[in-house]
Parts: sequence; C-alpha cells; structure tokens
Amino acid sequence: MPASEVTIWGRRYPLQIVALDAKPSVTFERERVILNVRPGSDAACRAATMYAWHKSVLRAAAAELIEKWQARLGVSVAACTPRRMETKWGSCTPHTRRIRLNTELVKKPPDLLEYVVAHELAHLRVPNHGKAFVAILDEHYPAWREARARLNESPPAARRKTATKHRESIAMSILPPKGRTGLARLIAAIGYSRAGIAAAFKGEAAFRQIVALNAVLVPLAFFCPVNRGERALMIAVCLLSLIVELFNSAIEAVVDRISEERHPLSKNAKDMGSAAQSVALALIAAVWGVILLG
Ligand SMILES: [Zn+2]
Repeated sequence: MPASEVTIWGRRYPLQIVALDAKPSVTFERERVILNVRPGSDAACRAATMYAWHKSVLRAAAAELIEKWQARLGVSVAACTPRRMETKWGSCTPHTRRIRLNTELVKKPPDLLEYVVAHELAHLRVPNHGKAFVAILDEHYPAWREARARLNESPPAARRKTATKHRESIAMSILPPKGRTGLARLIAAIGYSRAGIAAAFKGEAAFRQIVALNAVLVPLAFFCPVNRGERALMIAVCLLSLIVELFNSAIEAVVDRISEERHPLSKNAKDMGSAAQSVALALIAAVWGVILLG
C-alpha cells in the first residue's frame, strides 16, 4: 500500500495500513496512525472505517468542550452530532438545543474546535449574530476573530472538492493525549468499525432524558392509588418510550454513519424516529391521564 499521511488536530502523522483478518479498526500508536482492514478491502471500506473513528473521536473531544462551555455560558445542549457539512463548520438549532459540528474540524488545531463549540453554544443564548452575540464571544472567547479567520482560510466547501482524493487523510483524527476520555480509550480498544452506534447511544442526550423520565415515572407509579393492572400499564408505556428512543438513536446513528451527504430519505428516517418518540410520549400522557384522572 502506498505510504500516506494523516492530519490530526493540526499535526501530520504517517498512516500505516495493515491487512488483518479481523473487524476493521484504527489505532494510534507511537506517533503513527494504523488502519487495520481485511485483506483485499476496497478504498470505500477503508474510508468508512476511518470516518467512523474520526467521528467518534470528534464526538468525544466535543463532549468535553461542550461540558466546559455549557458551564461557562449557562446553557445546555440536548445533542451534538458530528457530520460532513459542505458550507459550515458548525450549526445550532436553538429551540431543540441541538448542535452539529463539521467532522473536518478534527484536522484543525484543537482551539478551532473550541471556537466552533463556543460559537454554537452562544447561539443558545442569542440565535443571531447581532451585538448581543458578539458581546458574549468578546467576553468569553476574546480571540474569536482570529479563530474565525483561520477557519475561513480553508472553508469546508474548498476541502469538499478534494474530499475524494484525500478522503483517507481527511477522515482521521485522534484526541490530544490530555483530552483523551475514557470513552475514547474504550472505543480505541474495541475497534471503531461499528462503534458509531455505541457512541450515538452514549452521545444521545435525548436518550438520557428518556431514562430520567422513566426514573421518575416508574417509581411514581408505585405510589399512585391504582390497581395492579393499571400500574402495570402505566409502567409499560414508560418502558415503551425507552425502547422507542433506543430505536430512534439507532436510526440516527445509522443514518449518520451511512450517508455522507444530506439526503431527503435520511431526513425522513430521522423525522419518523422523532415522530415515533412523540407518539410514545403522547401515549404515556394519555394512559396516565385516563387512569389517574378518568
Ligand atoms: Zn453562528
């Protein structure tokens, strides 16, 4: 295999491709990136393996920064999704408190990821780029103009054109040693080929919220003045919401994993998953309402 290099957090490392009859994985050892793939695997398989790793690493790095900036700005993020983006480094939907980060950010020095995280989280306080928004950045990230200029030196769209040629070198990253979390180490240890789904479960704040809802409602059901059949039904609909959210997270993870571009079918799949969860939550309200009030 031809020798090649990968850029990670602003530094270049040699890439070594190893043919191994095992589940594809990526490891970072002694200043080298090692891609383990089955003998005869094609370029698409190698790129997909590295992209999955790339995303899981960005997710882990972003999680730490989000924690820091949530505290600093007094906001909370419902979910953070790394994805390929053609024109933006990040985006934020304030009313759902979801942010998306361009996976290309793992090639950049870590402070640029931090700037994008700070920027998107600031949108949870001010949705536009007006004076109030600038004031927040001036106060909490004074070097933001310099960071923005460095990002704009290589806009995502310009990279996109060379994505096919350089896909391997783009699709790789690691965390700076200090920033490596238990999650990142765990994923590094067990291999990255299918870790995207596991990471999605870990990374889905929506799932944690449903768990919290169950942690409140299921015990509460035991204190309600209802008969055993009613109590069983009340608990069953709660647990159903948990099952639905597991599938919902799985769908999101799978869609993010298999599609490199935004696609109407991907959007449909995600919307349907969200709709299923809305129905499940409505079912809880209806069943509890009928039993307790009816
Ligand atoms: Zn913005």
